Amino acid sequence: MKADILTIFPGFFSGPLDHGITRRACEMGLAKIEVHDLRQFTHDKHRTVDDRPFGGGEGMVLKPEPIFDCLEPLGLASREQRLSGAVRESLILLSAQGQRFTQQVAAELAVLDRIVLICGRYEGVDERVADFLADRELSIGDYVLSGGELAAAVIIEAVMRLLPGAVGNEASTRQESFTSHEQTTRTESGAADSTCGSGGLLDYPHYTRPADFRGMTVPEVLLNGDHQQIRKWRRQQALEKTLRNRPDLLEGAPLSDEDAKILARIKAGRE
Ligand code: SAM
Repeated sequence: MKADILTIFPGFFSGPLDHGITRRACEMGLAKIEVHDLRQFTHDKHRTVDDRPFGGGEGMVLKPEPIFDCLEPLGLASREQRLSGAVRESLILLSAQGQRFTQQVAAELAVLDRIVLICGRYEGVDERVADFLADRELSIGDYVLSGGELAAAVIIEAVMRLLPGAVGNEASTRQESFTSHEQTTRTESGAADSTCGSGGLLDYPHYTRPADFRGMTVPEVLLNGDHQQIRKWRRQQALEKTLRNRPDLLEGAPLSDEDAKILARIKAGRE
């Protein structure tokens, strides 16, 4: 996968993307990341990338010209081809007003050949970029950042860890929080083990050695080697944590009869 980032702060990315799985994916040749400095596509001596908003109002707006000019030589397919799915490319504008970036969107992006991320700054980006250039606007959450750079780094990390081969133990990315039931089962080997896919819920709790750390002990069930019991316990814990921290996820998750019984017991225990 090729990822291009358009930004007025190219130096921002040396650091966040130079570690862990993202770095590994690049070193293994699974991914290539290129950062483009929008100031190089300005034509005045001050290298101006922003201007005052038409109609008045607070702050400055990122101008359209540097963004359009920077994109032209990148050789992307046309917007029509991208939107129709004729090519596996996506041009994304980072925006607090965008659709929410989720694990599902990360999985959609991970099967593409190329993603291009436009980082906004100031009060935002001239709307013609969203209207005529970008394929979609993505937000990483309901809060306002000062720029799209952190959001771009978040998206790249979430996407790159889903590239086949990027994570040492690929099965682990199929069991994590938010991973849909379809994503888990599409790739699951079917072999009996003690783990369970999250099926859209939060992940189950993880423990490692020592079994007793300063009097804080690991749940007994994890030590007895009974994979069925462990699997059941993990599912219960995942349900409990989801109910506690993210009850909204339970609405869309495919729950088995057994899950429904466990949830009913947890809720009854709380009353
Ligand atoms: N005036 C805008 C608003 O109220 O929605 C906020 C602009 S923000 C200060 C500047 C830039 O940061 C945006 O153009 C966008 O690229 C980025 N940004 C801010 N919050 C974001 C978020 N939650 N997700 C993705 N990008 C974000």
